[in-house]
Amino acid sequence: MKFQPRASHFIDGEYVEDTNGTAIEVIYPATGEVIARLHSATPAIVEQALNSAKNAQAAWAALSGTERGRILRRASDIMRERNYDLSVLETHDTGKPIQETTVADATSGADALEYFGGLAASLTGEHIPLGGGDFVYTIREALGVCVGIGAWNYPTQIACWKGAPALACGNTMVFKPSETTPLSALKVAEILVEAGAPKGVYNVIQGYGDVGASLVTDPRVAKVSLTGSVPTGRKVYAAAADGMKHVTMELGGKSPMIVFDDADIENAVSGAILGNFYSSGQVCSNGTRVFVQKSIKEAFLKRLSERLDHAKIGDPMDENVSFGPMVSENQMNIALGYIEKGKAEGARLIYGGERIDRDGYFLQPTVFADVTDNMTIAREEIFGPVMSVLDFETEEEVMARANDTEFGLAAGVFTNDLTRAHRIVAGFEAGTCYINTYNLAPVEAPFGGSKMSGVGRENSKLAINHFSEMKTVYVSMNDVEAPY
Ligand code: NDP
Repeated sequence: MKFQPRASHFIDGEYVEDTNGTAIEVIYPATGEVIARLHSATPAIVEQALNSAKNAQAAWAALSGTERGRILRRASDIMRERNYDLSVLETHDTGKPIQETTVADATSGADALEYFGGLAASLTGEHIPLGGGDFVYTIREALGVCVGIGAWNYPTQIACWKGAPALACGNTMVFKPSETTPLSALKVAEILVEAGAPKGVYNVIQGYGDVGASLVTDPRVAKVSLTGSVPTGRKVYAAAADGMKHVTMELGGKSPMIVFDDADIENAVSGAILGNFYSSGQVCSNGTRVFVQKSIKEAFLKRLSERLDHAKIGDPMDENVSFGPMVSENQMNIALGYIEKGKAEGARLIYGGERIDRDGYFLQPTVFADVTDNMTIAREEIFGPVMSVLDFETEEEVMARANDTEFGLAAGVFTNDLTRAHRIVAGFEAGTCYINTYNLAPVEAPFGGSKMSGVGRENSKLAINHFSEMKTVYVSMNDVEAPY
């Protein structure tokens, strides 16, 4: 099999296998064919990975930030050099079109390695002068062994968004990808070693939720960073709390995108397309509740349908294809179930709605209009190519409705009224907001959710605070005053 890795796991700088683990079949979503066979980690493999990470951590943290950063930046360069091959692998693992994977996966991972590699040398504490000559200094310290657990939509990106800041701060990592897309994290581990990372600094083990759960509760682990759904987040957060571990939770969403009647319609339609159909809709921050002001609703829907006619659906390895399959049969069936619910609850299907008659898990880009706030498709995360268009009349009304959700990952507004744009964004209950665009996530900017969508932030300088902690040192320059 062309995409069969040398073994299932990467521990202590080497590929490791244990065939006693439950079998994992990796399926190419565009055809349904098995492209690799792996095994889930057994308790012995989990043990080996955690020991390796634990043993490597002190020496890794003892390197200077400059040295750690150099390794990360070298890894970034290697990823960019191999972008095409890594993108082919990612396309086979996820089904996402090569047109997307060449610009949004290994490249995004490389950005994180480069950015945090650059920051590593300047991670410091501070000097705090006090009265009478006393002072405090703080030492920024690594947390220790960090666990990363990934979702299946952006496997390379997630492996790097977690690994790069963790390693920059002097931590080591055990990363568990989703069993649906287990291949590319192994490549990230290989590349880090090739770039000079010592053995054990970045380990990858495969497995289902039970493997993730056993990592989260292990006493050797200081921090858990999860990208996944809200129900999984709840479980992982609770399990981590028992050991008082640090957490970052990047969870799901049902984000609003508001289009006012003064907006540039072409841009708003582009934003709605990007925010609903990129990666076949399998993006956590998608703006799946598109609120369109009533006066422009029909014009918006007409233009949206015209633009969707130009989506090129097909073989994701064809560079002209812009819309690929969903990641798995299961995920496709979940989305189809929501489409049926949308119809049954009275939403007006204006585009798509059907499985495409070909091999693989292809679903048409789907748009419902006349969606109301209480319909299931407007309340629950679908994680597929299903857009809900809702009407609104006034700013006050839409603001309240946009925020009326347990989620708070992202939110966007399209308007040419400058003050209104900022007023709306100030009112959004969401971690990542967009004005006149949607779904961009540069590594320089914090990314993460409010409310049920998450805890903590990835990317940007803020991620450093989530992968390190401060030790405070009080220095007295005076005699000690005691009451007796
Ligand atoms: P899941 O929540 O099902 O799984 C996420 C990861 O957690 C998987 O690796 C999973 O393993 C693992 N896991 C499951 N149960 C446990 C447990 N009890 N303890 C530890 N680990 C566990 O999410 P999906 O993979 O289905 O991904 C889709 C979800 O991810 C969506 O809700 C989406 O919004 C969210 N997401 C959020 C992003 C963000 O940045 N906020 C980005 C991308 C996706 P296994 O797969 O084997 O069950």
